Order: sequence, then C-alpha cells, then structure tokens
Amino acid sequence: MKNLSFNRRVALNFMGATAIMMLLIYLTIYAVVYRTVYNHMNNDLLAEARELREGLTVQNDSLFITSQREWREPEHGLLEINPIFIQVSRPHGLVKKSPNLGQDKLYVRPSLTEIRYFKDTIKSKPIYQLQFPVTDASGQKKGDILVAVPLKDTQMVLVNLRTVLILSFPIIIVLLFFITNYIAGRSIAPVNNLMREAGNITGKNYTHRLPLPKRKDELYYLTKSINDLIARLQEAIQREKQFTSDASHELRTPLSSMKGVLEVALRKSRNQEYYHDKLYILLDEVNKMSTLSEQLLWLARYEQGNQNIKQEKFSLLEILHQQYELLEDELHKKSLYLNLEFCKDIDIMTDWMMLNRIIQNILTNAIKFSPENTEITVKTFTKEKHAAIEISDHGDGIDPQELDKIFDRFYQADNSRSAQTGGSGLGLSIVKRFTDLLGIAIQAKSRKGEGTSFILEIPLTDQASRI
Ligand code: ADP
Repeated sequence: MKNLSFNRRVALNFMGATAIMMLLIYLTIYAVVYRTVYNHMNNDLLAEARELREGLTVQNDSLFITSQREWREPEHGLLEINPIFIQVSRPHGLVKKSPNLGQDKLYVRPSLTEIRYFKDTIKSKPIYQLQFPVTDASGQKKGDILVAVPLKDTQMVLVNLRTVLILSFPIIIVLLFFITNYIAGRSIAPVNNLMREAGNITGKNYTHRLPLPKRKDELYYLTKSINDLIARLQEAIQREKQFTSDASHELRTPLSSMKGVLEVALRKSRNQEYYHDKLYILLDEVNKMSTLSEQLLWLARYEQGNQNIKQEKFSLLEILHQQYELLEDELHKKSLYLNLEFCKDIDIMTDWMMLNRIIQNILTNAIKFSPENTEITVKTFTKEKHAAIEISDHGDGIDPQELDKIFDRFYQADNSRSAQTGGSGLGLSIVKRFTDLLGIAIQAKSRKGEGTSFILEIPLTDQASRI
C-alpha cells in the first residue's frame, strides 16, 4: 500500500468503502424480499385456514365439516397450476383432504396447540405449510386444519435474486476500481506535470516559472505559491551575489590604493617625512578595511536568526551615557554640541550589546553628516507600551526618494558626500537587521538641507517597567 501510486490508492480505498456499503445494501434488499414473500404466504395460508375453520363444527368430541364451499374452490382441485393443499385431521385420523393431494397426506404434528408454519415436502417437492389447531369451547384441541402451498416459485425468486446479487457484487466492485483508477489518474495528471516542470528548474534556470493552470482551483494556488517561492529564492540568490560582489569591491578599493602608495614609495628612496605621510595614509586604509571586515562579521553572525540574542534588563540612560563617553572625542573634533533631553529613566529588556551598536551607528552617522558647530539632540520618552529614543541632527538630510534605501546593504545616499565621509554603506543595514531581530521599530525622517532624525521604539515588557 505504501508504494502504490496515488490513483491506485484512491481507487482501492473507494472500492473498499463501496464494497462495505454495497454488502449492507444487498443484505438489506435480500432480507426485505425474503420477509415480504414469507409474510405474504403466511397471510394467505392463515386466511385460508380461517375460512376452513368457519366450515367446521366440533360436536360430541368430534370434528365435522358443515360447509363444503371452501372445498369446492378450483385451487384445491386436481389440475390446478398454483395449487393450495388443504386437509382437516382429527387426533386419530383424517377428516378430509383436498383432491390435489392425491394419495399423499400433509404431515400433522399432534402435540401442537398453537398456529405454526413449517417447511415440508410432498412428493419430494418443497411445500410451505400452516398447522391451525381446532379447539372446542373449553379450549380442548379436537383436530387440526392444514393448509400448504408449493415453495418452488418462491424459492426460485429468492435463488434468482441471490444469484443476481452475488454475481453483480464483484463485477460492480471491479468496474468501480477501474473507473476510479482512471478518474483519479486523470485528476492527478496536472500534479505530475507540475512535478516534472518543477524538476526542470535548476540553479541555472531559476528564472523559469511553472505554467499556471487555467482554472482557479487548488492546483492554481499551489502553482502560484511555488512560483512565488522561486521568485523569493531568486531574489535572495541575487541579493547574495550582489552582496558578495559589493563586499569584494569595498575590500579591493582600499587594497589597490595601499598597493599604489607602496609601489610609488618603493620606486626610489625618500626622506623620513615622506614615509611618515604615506604610513598615515596606509593606516587610514587599514582602519577602513578593519571597520568593513568587522561590519561584515556582524552581518554574517546575525544572518541566521536570533540564536545570539540575550535578554537583559538595564537602564536606557546608562547606555546613552556610555555612548556619549565613547563618542566625546569625535563630537569635540567637529565642535558639535550633544543635547540630551531625558524625561525620566526607563528600564528596558533587550540585548545590551546589539542596542549599543544600533545607537552607536546612528550617532556616528549623525556626527559624520553634521556640519561643524551644530547640535545633535538625543531625546527619550515613553509612547504607549514603548520606550522611544529620537536622535536628530542638523546635517544636509537625505532625499525623500533615497530615504527607504538607506537601510540596504552598501547603499550610500548622495555618493559624492558619502565618499568624503569614508563609510561603506553597511552601518544602517546592521541597524535594520538588529532592530528586526529585537522587535524594535525604526523610522527615519529627513528634510533635505534641514537635518535627519531616527526614532527607535523599544517594546516595554512586564519585567522592564518604568522607574
Ligand atoms: P555609511 O557607512 O555610508 O554611513 P550607513 O549604512 O550608515 O553607511 O548609511 C547609509 C547612507 O545613509 C549614508 O551613506 C548616508 O548617505 C545616509 N545617512 C545615514 N545617516 C545619515 C544622516 N544622519 N544624515 C544624512 N545622511 C545620512
């Protein structure tokens, strides 16, 4: 059964269920016909016996026939095709029997005191017989009326019915098996086609799509889901390809500039100051590469899901103060003023290290893209069941068309400006990945020439409550 094809399995199951149902229906039909035929005979025999009883009298302990009317009816005569045999008996002898019995007699059961039906034989032919005891006024049995009919026709009807039922049963079942097998085979054919088509899609031709069936049934939606899945896979593969090519490009740029610097420096001997300058350039490039490889590592580590996430309870002010201390030098270099607007301290429950990195990346960008002598504001507040942090700067801002792309890997808005700041376009994609994993909502608002603000909404759980 395990290795049977789908259509065979459907056909076999259907055949099994139909066989049980048919068996029940056939048994019911046979039982109903059997009961109807015998009930009919019982009623006829009893009516006949009652009529005979009316023509009998019990006198002086003996039984007499007082009316011959019933005895004269043709079905009791000699040549009757559908004969009814009748006989009246006393306890020790016969009173009268119908002429169609000839030399034979109906068998009497002397001890019987109530009406009974029997199967018997006469001239070795089956008959169905009623014995009707005749009693006097005091209930004493004085004799019996016997009425019988041949069973041949009835038995023939029942035997014929049985034969038809028994023969038709396997024929119908086998026919049903083949019909169901054929129908199930036809119904499963589109699925087989689908399987074949899907089998043809390989890593080389994943642009190929499965043809959609015309009718909008389950198969249509299955095919559509498979096509959508292939499209998503195709997108993911392309993204990965793009990522690898972008990453190698980003690593090659500082490497080729370092190579150039080293080749020129080695061409002839130079003074100390020259080497000093070039070593600074090399150090700058090495720093860029080290930041980039660190960012790539972050993305790779958290690519697979949330297995590295820790849930810790800590204060939001603590994390913001730590960031301030870390970036103090950078702020001083550009004479930027950090305006901290904390309404009150908020306890939060999240991954300390990941949130640190999110805030650090946004603050670093704010510092990078702010003109000197401007202000950066960090505001905290609670909003419904969230702790919110808003980081705003007064930099050049981002074009509205570019705003939803800044979270893409390696995306740098306003290329010429970004080139000067020396970033790689990975910082905000790490922020997006981390906020997604931590369930933090992030929103970027910007106006060209006015500034940019990022709002983070951290969910407050029961354990992390406001102080
Ligand atoms: P990068 O390493 O270039 O900073 P990010 O992923 O951190 O990469 O940022 C992507 C781009 O978004 C940046 O190149 C910049 O164009 C834009 N951007 C991010 N933050 C700001 C900001 N505060 N002001 C203006 N532009 C910004």
